[in-house]
Amino acid sequence: KRRDKIRNFSIIAHIDHGKSTLADRILEKTSALTQREMQDQMLDAMDLERERGITIKLNAVQLNYKSQDGETYIFHLIDTPGHVDFAYEVSRSLAACEGALLIVDAAQGIEAQTLANVYLALDNELEILPIINKIDLPSAEPDRVRQEVEDVIGLPGEDCIPASAKNGIGIDDILEAVVAKVPAPTGDPEAPLKAMIFDSIYDPYRGVIVYIRIMEGTVKPGQKIKMMANNKEFEVQEIGVFTPKPLAQEELTVGDVGFMIAGIKNVGESQVGDTVTHAHKPTAEAMPGYRRLNPMVFCGLYPVDASDYNDLRDALEKLELNDSALQFEAETSQALGFGFRCGFLGLLHMEIIQERIEREFDIDLITTAPSVIYEVTKTDGSSIEISNPSDMPDAQSVDYVREPYVKAEVMVPNDYVGAVMELCQRKRGDYVDMKYLDANRVNIIYEIPLSEIVYDFFDTLKSNTKGYASFDYEIIGYKESNLVKMDILLNGESIDALSIIVHRDSAYDRGKIIAEKLKKLIPRQQFEVPVQASIGQKIVARSTIKAMRKNVLAKCYGGDISRKRKLLEKQKAGKKRMKSVGNVDVPQEAFMSVLSMD
Ligand code: GDP
Ligand code: MG
Repeated sequence: KRRDKIRNFSIIAHIDHGKSTLADRILEKTSALTQREMQDQMLDAMDLERERGITIKLNAVQLNYKSQDGETYIFHLIDTPGHVDFAYEVSRSLAACEGALLIVDAAQGIEAQTLANVYLALDNELEILPIINKIDLPSAEPDRVRQEVEDVIGLPGEDCIPASAKNGIGIDDILEAVVAKVPAPTGDPEAPLKAMIFDSIYDPYRGVIVYIRIMEGTVKPGQKIKMMANNKEFEVQEIGVFTPKPLAQEELTVGDVGFMIAGIKNVGESQVGDTVTHAHKPTAEAMPGYRRLNPMVFCGLYPVDASDYNDLRDALEKLELNDSALQFEAETSQALGFGFRCGFLGLLHMEIIQERIEREFDIDLITTAPSVIYEVTKTDGSSIEISNPSDMPDAQSVDYVREPYVKAEVMVPNDYVGAVMELCQRKRGDYVDMKYLDANRVNIIYEIPLSEIVYDFFDTLKSNTKGYASFDYEIIGYKESNLVKMDILLNGESIDALSIIVHRDSAYDRGKIIAEKLKKLIPRQQFEVPVQASIGQKIVARSTIKAMRKNVLAKCYGGDISRKRKLLEKQKAGKKRMKSVGNVDVPQEAFMSVLSMD
């Protein structure tokens, strides 16, 4: 049977352990193309296909592998995103597989994302094939890492395949292990259709292209299908596989991995993790594990130039077509005018969207400091969720506040344990556990408020440990904290977009830091500007921005016109990312600075 020859697998690894390089080697052996050639070819394909129109993303390629047993196998290599913001997408991509190649760097050993990925693979009951990569390095310690795989992950050390993706060592062993150890898909091709969506992208020519894995049943063009999460129905127009060129097929059946085009207009209608079934003969139960993605981090996006407001809304609407995790709603700030409060999966996701708006849509943005969602229970017993610090009710009407926490795992050499604990403590972390991986490496576990992670935790961790620490986290739920709203006043006026929520114990220090920081960041104005931080009516810190001494043009003695023009242009460029708030010009950096601790 054809199905017995199918092997669906992913590669999982900590960043830089060699996932892309190994994928490259596998592609060379199986499709007679290097990844570079493949990408070139895809670019050609994209030109070629322009009239027909189809976007390709190299994340589920079908490959043919001729095994030493003489048989040819069909491999589907499914790519996974590499950042904790997208952990859910990773878990769904893994759910489309029966096996995973787990790469561990022979010099670095197991790192935080190695473990996080192993947990996801185990959740999805995958066969894990451990590979010790980079054995060519002088610093490689394959035996130590083999022992680590056994002790920390619990896989037999002797199963580890030594390899050098860079030098092409061990690649045949890996491919043969895929054939021998990754189970072939099972399922009934005659059963009602059950296909899982593991990615979904918007194509301007064809609408949404859905990446699916068929778990049960068979799907063909012309059939009516239904998305089980929202009951929306569509008609299948085209199905196929990526080789990496899109290749139309007459059907996709049990074990197949490919694409489906069905006149879907918006990725929100075909969400990752959802189950596709036939409209007329639906499967009884959807695939387990579907959940709607909830944004965890929010910020305000405002156009620098108020007349860009409609363009900004158009940009967000276009991006939303391609990104079901992005949320936005109109918001008004006294200080910044009309804009949007937007929700993101995490900070990286937030940065990607901001950058796309500025680059692809050419809109200059003012972004407010990122915030998490706080649960506020009021003294009258009612409770509200707030994602904008300025919405925090007055202290006397607040009974208690809860905030989201993460379980953070940091892996680090012995020497830096103190530095890591100091940082976690400073970020209001609760110590949970500490385990030695081997004689000189430690896994440290803390529960830390998400709000402390989103800003600069990872950067600080890296610099405090000379880059040796690796880090991963997952959201674990809400906990009560002693939080208060701190307002910032410029020239006596409270600026809503600068309000933040802080822990009461650190409020004074934070207020001081912010007041000093704003003093440095906000340029001198024609008049003196007092900067104050307040909690309720109480001023907790202040600084003063002195008035400008003289007009910058006065220096030119009215002489050199071109020099004068240059100065004016320089001033204008400097103003580009400023917003006049009240009557004070405030630069973009000021809005973000309220979160930094030093
Ligand atoms: P990824 O982040 O897991 O995709 O890692 P990459 O495949 O991008 O590899 C990260 C770095 O390690 C690159 O500079 C690679 O050239 C290098 N690398 C990957 N595999 C090997 C290997 O087997 N030996 C050596 N010496 N370097 C490797
Ligand atoms: Mg890579």
